[in-house]
Amino acid sequence: MLKRPFTTKEKLEEIAREIPTPFHIYDEKGIRDNIREIYKAFSWNPGFREYFAVKAEPNPVILKLLKEEGCGCDCSSLTELMMSKAIGCGGELTMFSSNDTPDEEYVYANDMGAIINLDDFTMIESFAKAVGKFPKTMCCRYNPGGIFKVSNGIMDSPGDAKYGMTTSQLYDAFKILKENGVENFGIHSFLVSNAVTNDYYPMLAKLLFELAVEVQRETGCHITFINLSGGVGIPYKPGQEKSDIIAIGEGVRKAYEEVLVPAGMGDIAIYAEMGRFVTGPYGALVTRAIHEKHTHKEYIGVDACAVNLMRPAMYGAYHHITVMGKEDAPFTNMYDVTGSLCENNDKFAVDRMLPKINMGDLIYIHDTGAHGFAMGYNYNGKLRSAEVLLHEDGSYELIRRAETPQDYFATFSNLPVYKELMAEADAR
Ligand SMILES: *Cc1c(COP(=O)(O)O)cnc(C)c1O
Repeated sequence: MLKRPFTTKEKLEEIAREIPTPFHIYDEKGIRDNIREIYKAFSWNPGFREYFAVKAEPNPVILKLLKEEGCGCDCSSLTELMMSKAIGCGGELTMFSSNDTPDEEYVYANDMGAIINLDDFTMIESFAKAVGKFPKTMCCRYNPGGIFKVSNGIMDSPGDAKYGMTTSQLYDAFKILKENGVENFGIHSFLVSNAVTNDYYPMLAKLLFELAVEVQRETGCHITFINLSGGVGIPYKPGQEKSDIIAIGEGVRKAYEEVLVPAGMGDIAIYAEMGRFVTGPYGALVTRAIHEKHTHKEYIGVDACAVNLMRPAMYGAYHHITVMGKEDAPFTNMYDVTGSLCENNDKFAVDRMLPKINMGDLIYIHDTGAHGFAMGYNYNGKLRSAEVLLHEDGSYELIRRAETPQDYFATFSNLPVYKELMAEADAR
């Protein structure tokens, strides 16, 4: 598949006149069309709900837009819970899939009526101590251990993952929770990340459905939902095939009819917590070429750096790059595209063939709509960028302003030097 920006050079130049680069931009229409397709794929399951993984793109405007399309929020921390509540996703519209969870986060999640997904057996006691009483609905996270193989080399190692409980722990957890008044149960599992295949969800679903049938039979616990969590991948590289969500939904339906329906469990709701698949392709990091350097290699320095998009530096992840206005120009030059961190891994691309880049060219880094801005940090005293939402009619909205030095210094407010720092920042 060819990779094309979702907007034009002219539009980005127009935006950049008001909001200086770098910034992340999101395509509202792309996100809405995609989420509607997801709901269509699972329309056979009346209880289906996507709980968007807030950590993938923690912006309340995006969360609200997804809520309008029927989504809830999957949260993993206090501030994510707060955002979820603030945009109207209180109650069962929030799934709290945390791990190593601080007591006060359980209290907050429980107070807002969120569905609690216990990561570990010991969390039953932690939760009981922190909250006192169990809600009517609880979920447990499952980890089968070993290696989970999907197809064409796609696999992961749940046995090395810190998440979830073992099979016997899950049985015990359900029994204890039932004795303590829990009436509705969910099973959750996340076994493979960025699985670019149509087989992952159906295979995971089959595994969890079979487990659900046995658990319900053995413990008498009423299982009301199965949470397939996240992990559905996106094609970061050109030529990679896009996951077909309709085929994925169909695959899950087959497993459902094969396993759950004959067991008399055809009332189970399917939940998902996709992040990457929902917003990933519909975001981009827009940056500008500001320096070129000719030494042992050819370097293009841009005004963004790894604090704005960590994935290439952290995992060597590939993010496609388009030089705006040169979409159809031949790839004549090999570059390393770098940021300004004092870290040699601060490279958005290594040995990448691109059209000849001129200083001032807008560089469009694809697929930053999930785990992009969200993984930002402040190393080297760098500031987080703005976020912009592009509406279908071509208008745009600043949905997060860029950080300022004042923001960066704010946590020194108890120090004597704070006044000087702020005076310096204000004088700029
Ligand atoms: C990260 C995460 C997700 C989302 O994962 P994606 O790869 O973005 O789909 C969902 N659920 C949990 C519990 C997670 O930790």
